[in-house]
Amino acid sequence: MGSKVFTLGVQLRPGDRMRFATKAIHAGQEPDPRTGAVTPPIYATSTYSRKGQDAYAYARSANPTRDALQQSLAALESGKHALAFSSGMGAITTALTLLKKGDHVLVTDDCYGGVYRIFTRIMSQYGIESTFLDLRDLVDVEDAFRPETRILWMESPTNPLMKVVDLKELAFIAKAHEALSVCDSTFASPALQNPLALGVDLVVHSTTKYLGGHADLLGGALVMNRDDIHEKLKFSQNALGAVPSAFDCWLALRGIKTLPVRMERHCDNAEMLSKFLKDHKAVAKVHYPGLPDDPGHGIAKKQMRRFGGMLSFELRDSTRLVERLKRLEVILLAESLGGVESLIEHPASMTHTSVPKEQREKQGITDGLVRFSVGLEDAQDLTEDLGRALG
Ligand SMILES: *Cc1c(COP(=O)(O)O)cnc(C)c1O
Repeated sequence: MGSKVFTLGVQLRPGDRMRFATKAIHAGQEPDPRTGAVTPPIYATSTYSRKGQDAYAYARSANPTRDALQQSLAALESGKHALAFSSGMGAITTALTLLKKGDHVLVTDDCYGGVYRIFTRIMSQYGIESTFLDLRDLVDVEDAFRPETRILWMESPTNPLMKVVDLKELAFIAKAHEALSVCDSTFASPALQNPLALGVDLVVHSTTKYLGGHADLLGGALVMNRDDIHEKLKFSQNALGAVPSAFDCWLALRGIKTLPVRMERHCDNAEMLSKFLKDHKAVAKVHYPGLPDDPGHGIAKKQMRRFGGMLSFELRDSTRLVERLKRLEVILLAESLGGVESLIEHPASMTHTSVPKEQREKQGITDGLVRFSVGLEDAQDLTEDLGRALG
């Protein structure tokens, strides 16, 4: 993996002297100064004695295991600051405290279902309007800005259609309109894409996915360079209280150490599976930016190191689709993604039920669409498993 991208436009900090795989293991994870313990301890405490120190007061405000995770996350994105949360949605809710009544937000139409839900069902109650649109059309994006547009909310690649948007161009457009650019980079993980280096103001991760990587924790993160945004969000992190437990921080740190090697294998397997599916007679279409004829291929090549472990595909025949997916023996029918085990799911009846059917179909989330988080199993076992289930 090249190290070039990590220093683009970002002031050099000690962690930046290390390359990505080294940072994943060492940034924020120095041996414990008191005991030399190689693995950062789990500080399971809700409060701290103030007799000998004033840095730590109460665990909602700060915890040393969380500090270690935050340092690690900042280093992975070559960002100045990171904040860790109890879930991706906890991070997102906290980011939305940057908005106030009367503000307007532009959101990618193919967004995470929970993001659609929070904008349409919750933020709307607080006088914050949102417009959902396809961010691949930059002219449409320009036209959609209003004087009160405060945030441009991007995801890339998107969920579940794997659309890739031009983060550098979009960050530039947002800046010209004095709006904040936010990118949910969960599908790429910091191993494949670093939005801050492309000019994006705020990066969102659900650490539940690739960063944790083992389907055993819930967590979220916000990473940024700007001190003013960090001050506001750190205040909101403590005020809202969507903070992770020390144990979940420790699990995330443990997962992060192998992120670079895991992502290589996720990408290898997804590249192979995307070709297998493309050639399969039951499959009408494969959405994967790694395929040379995918509409997102060109931009993905520019802004990502590889094409990721997520893909989706459309079956020609959608009858009893979920029943057929239950026939899989290696690949599990389950929501979520980014873990070592392959997971497959049906967006129309599982992850995207909060998006109304009409809106879903307009976006291309058809009843025949299947989302596939390609795991680290032997690729041959995965193709054989899919071959059996698809018939
Ligand atoms: C899972 C996910 C989230 C939400 O994260 P949780 O940890 O489940 O709260 C947000 N964005 C994307 C792209 C996700 O995949």
